[in-house]
Amino acid sequence: MATRRVCRECHRVLDSPDQQTCPACGSSSLTEDWAGYVVISHPETSEIASEMQVTEPGRYALKVR
Ligand SMILES: [Zn+2]
Repeated sequence: MATRRVCRECHRVLDSPDQQTCPACGSSSLTEDWAGYVVISHPETSEIASEMQVTEPGRYALKVR
């Protein structure tokens, strides 16, 4: 599995390695140096989501360097 890129701003895991910007926040600050993986399907009821200030369902990295 190819390393996926993660947005440094909102920690979103990008779907495609071809993407140059984050589809969620539009940032082009991406990194392949990240760890942990969480799927948030119901951000409004998720403690992790509120801690990470996530408002949209999706896949997110827990740690981004
Ligand atoms: Zn983002």
